Amino acid sequence: MLSTMQDVPLTVTRILQHGMSIHGTSQITTWTGEAEPQRRTFAEVGRRATQLANALRDELGIDGDQRVATLMWNNAEHVEAYFAIPSMGAVLHTLNLRLPAEQLVWIVNHAADRAVIVNGSLLPLLAPLLPHLPTVEHVVVAGPGDRSLLTGTDARVHEYEDLIAGRPTTYDWPELDERSAAAMCYTSGTTGDPKGVVYSHRSIYLHSMQVNMAESMGLTDRDTSLVVVPQFHVNAWGLPHATFMTGINMLMPDRFLQPAPLAEMIERERPSHAAAVPTIWQGLLAEVTANPRDLSSMKQVTIGGAACPPSLMEAYDKLGVRLCHAWGMTETSPLGTMAHPPAGLSAEEEWPYRVTQGRFPAGVEARLVGPGGERLPWDGESAGELEVRGAWIAGAYYGGAGGEELRPADKFSEDGWLKTGDVGVISPDGYLTLTDRAKDVIKSGGEWISSVELENALMAHPEVAEAAVVAVPDDKWGERPLATVVLREGAAADYAVLRAFLAERIAKWQLPERWALVPAVPKTSVGKFDKKVIRRQYADGELDVTEL
Ligand code: AMP
Repeated sequence: MLSTMQDVPLTVTRILQHGMSIHGTSQITTWTGEAEPQRRTFAEVGRRATQLANALRDELGIDGDQRVATLMWNNAEHVEAYFAIPSMGAVLHTLNLRLPAEQLVWIVNHAADRAVIVNGSLLPLLAPLLPHLPTVEHVVVAGPGDRSLLTGTDARVHEYEDLIAGRPTTYDWPELDERSAAAMCYTSGTTGDPKGVVYSHRSIYLHSMQVNMAESMGLTDRDTSLVVVPQFHVNAWGLPHATFMTGINMLMPDRFLQPAPLAEMIERERPSHAAAVPTIWQGLLAEVTANPRDLSSMKQVTIGGAACPPSLMEAYDKLGVRLCHAWGMTETSPLGTMAHPPAGLSAEEEWPYRVTQGRFPAGVEARLVGPGGERLPWDGESAGELEVRGAWIAGAYYGGAGGEELRPADKFSEDGWLKTGDVGVISPDGYLTLTDRAKDVIKSGGEWISSVELENALMAHPEVAEAAVVAVPDDKWGERPLATVVLREGAAADYAVLRAFLAERIAKWQLPERWALVPAVPKTSVGKFDKKVIRRQYADGELDVTEL
């Protein structure tokens, strides 16, 4: 028997219509670097998104599920593109502006993007690539920047504001299949070609509802969220969509992502929430330690994308800012877990829960798989690869125009679960603790050493600013840890001191004997430690390594 319920497709269009009407007075504030930021209500953003959809169809001829890319910072225009493109039935393709040029070219060609909306300040990045992007027929430029860089390009160049000016503020939005593609995002591709994850209208809708649950970020129209995580990094963790559901105001940093302007934004605009990877919070901490600022408005901060060192959480606790740890991936939209402790605990009892990656929401099923493919128990001890399944979890990668979907065996199980490549344990009450990426774990004499545990312990030392640990080949043990350390300014800790500090927390056989001081830990395009680069630097003899 079928239900008697209506079957209304869950689409991005409905999120847009809801946000611009019910929450029409909520605001997007975009930092401009000038005396006043740009302020736009959801009603205005919705109207402008509608005008953009008209322009894309009538002026650029965007049709069907053609891809329209964005190469943009976090700002109101980018949110307009977020809603206009999927709502008209086309596919939003956010481009990671920190990728190397050749990867960007590969990705745009693979997705066969027909148009690119670009911030003027990013034209120096896009312009030299255009001759290698045969599918790109249109470039739409928004915001300040040198347009002359586009002289001589074969693509038609449009000015964003001119393009939308005077266009109709209504659109006969198509009734879309909720399973159809709404947006796509390529993984940063540390090995092999980047892989395209294609989000559906339905997955975005359901994921946005989850983001808004108290169990997750749980914000309302009384909140303002500082969205530091880029809109090209898994849809800014779903925030632009989630905010249009509940009217959460957004504070967008545009290109002003350095610690000093972020601190100023927080003090002046008083957001109650923020979302970013740990390296951003490390940078901001150093900034506000040197130049104190009022961060008291921030009641909750979502931190994820890489393991949050407990020492960082403690430091922010002292500033009255509570970091809440979350885990996810491009393939998981990204919300996979969030570390809210169970009810009824004291602050001291909450701590061991807060430093986990968190627990799974109802929409995400999880299992741990051992090296031989066996299912492992949730006993807080058995470590295995995490596999997940759910309505906002990828089941395949995009195969390119006319290509078959890709389901590589190292990424998807035979029964369709996503193999995350993350290794960890799950407690009996469903809290996930990741010990490593499968490819970063250090395999020493048949035992595993967690690089993350060593890093967290090192970063708890007051003279250590950052530390990254990687596996390096070792004749006797197969692999051993190499610790690369960034000291705080003026600090003078030596390796023996750091090793002794580690010995208080970590089993002796796991302590690194190889050490190198580095000026900075190399970072990936989304601000995570780039261990691939460290391994290469070691192999090429570029590091000044001391053996204890
Ligand atoms: P990306 O798709 O670029 O966001 O990368 C996803 C990967 O980032 C995951 O598979 C994890 O390895 C890592 N990651 C994300 N969040 C966390 C977290 N809270 N703790 C540890 N690793 C994380």
